[in-house]
Amino acid sequence: SGLQATHHGAVDNGDARTYMNGEVSTGPGNQPSPVRVVCATSEHTFELDTDALESVLLQDDLKDLPVAVVSVAGTFRKGKSFLLDFMLRFMYRKNKFWLGSENEPLTGFKWRGGSERETTGIEIWSEIFLSHRADGTQVAILLMDTQGAFDSQSTIRDCATVFALSTMTSSMQVYNLTQNIQEDDLQHLQLFTEYGRLAMEEIVTKPFQQLHVILPLQNLMFLVRDWSFPYEFPYGNTGGKHFLERRLKVSDTQHEELQNVRKHIHRCFSNVDCFLLPHPGLKVATNPNFDGSLKDISIEFKQGLMNLIPHLLLPENLAIKEINGTKLTCRSLVEYFKAYIKIYQGEDLPHPKSMLQATAEANNLSAVAAAQDFYNEEMEKVCGGSRPFLAPADLEREHQHVHKDALCIFRRTKKMGGIEFSRQYEEHLEESLTASFKRYALQNEGKNIFRAARTPSAFLLVAVF
Ligand code: GDP
Ligand code: MG
Repeated sequence: SGLQATHHGAVDNGDARTYMNGEVSTGPGNQPSPVRVVCATSEHTFELDTDALESVLLQDDLKDLPVAVVSVAGTFRKGKSFLLDFMLRFMYRKNKFWLGSENEPLTGFKWRGGSERETTGIEIWSEIFLSHRADGTQVAILLMDTQGAFDSQSTIRDCATVFALSTMTSSMQVYNLTQNIQEDDLQHLQLFTEYGRLAMEEIVTKPFQQLHVILPLQNLMFLVRDWSFPYEFPYGNTGGKHFLERRLKVSDTQHEELQNVRKHIHRCFSNVDCFLLPHPGLKVATNPNFDGSLKDISIEFKQGLMNLIPHLLLPENLAIKEINGTKLTCRSLVEYFKAYIKIYQGEDLPHPKSMLQATAEANNLSAVAAAQDFYNEEMEKVCGGSRPFLAPADLEREHQHVHKDALCIFRRTKKMGGIEFSRQYEEHLEESLTASFKRYALQNEGKNIFRAARTPSAFLLVAVF
């Protein structure tokens, strides 16, 4: 968790301790930096760096303060860390020039980071910011960055875990999207929050942890980057609210699935918000030498930041992390982190799947069921309970015939996932058809009035005659 080597990692700490009430609590290390607290291993298990987490949250002067946690999550390379670094500037600088100067490189959480993929996980800023609320109470503010990519089956689970963990531990989750709120963005959100709720349920049923959780999720903000339809919905929060209303509207004419995902989001979060951010300009999006200097960023984007960041971080706008109506302190946040990670390390939770995987499985399972039904229906006609005994050779021939047609039905049914994927289902079907045949053969045997002739005593009887 040391200082990053690149120029993006080092923090110009010149203005530190001047924001808000001039208070910044420095962690044990003296240079503020991102601290990795959750990390996905190469075996796709999760590790919590308890020491790192505690070094930030269990400082004597902080641990009993109520905590507000702002997290940014979503697909990787969409400007999450970049945004968080502007949040850091806002927290460190109190004056109206907090956005920075024209030629100042943007530092803090590492953004851009070359072409190598980042490890999936969660980082927090090593410094907790303090602010006084209007009622005189102090709040500790924690900023959280997440990394994850949905590029393979195993990483879907990693991603879901990171998203679920950050959603459950934050009081404001910023769901970072580009260009629009797509249907699959909503579906991912649903998958991730369900995954979070599963872990919560696990915790509720474990009495020794004494955590009673009913409504875990607080504030969600859809942050749409590179918004390009300001003539339909203007940039900012007002346009965002209207846009979101439109996107999340449930109507009777929608497909049930679309209705469900919307109802789910309304149910899971106590407050859902949206902000439309303009494109930052081509230098930001494409120039490899761009260092974050304001001179290279579009004026609309800078205006967007001037609106967005105070909207998220001004003390009066910050929500304290609550679980089941109880406000969390820094210390209790550590305990929740530990409890949640334990659940995700266990084997009890189902593995979240991609849409393709889930669809392919469903397709194959229903093709198996259709083929099996066909086989049973045909065999019932031939040798069902009301049918007379059939010579075993004839039964065998019927079976071969129907079996072949059933396999045909399976193979002909359109399925996603490819031949390789459906092979295991075909094998499963074959096994189950064989088992059915054995049952039919046994049943058939039971109808054989000459069956008695095969037993030794009957043989004797026949011999006597
Ligand atoms: P993260 O993986 O989501 O944390 O993304 P980064 O913060 O590392 O940013 C990835 C790249 O996106 C960088 O090259 C930034 O210059 C660029 N970027 C930052 N914000 C925006 C934005 O709002 N729109 C576009 N198009 N690019 C951005
Ligand atoms: Mg990042």
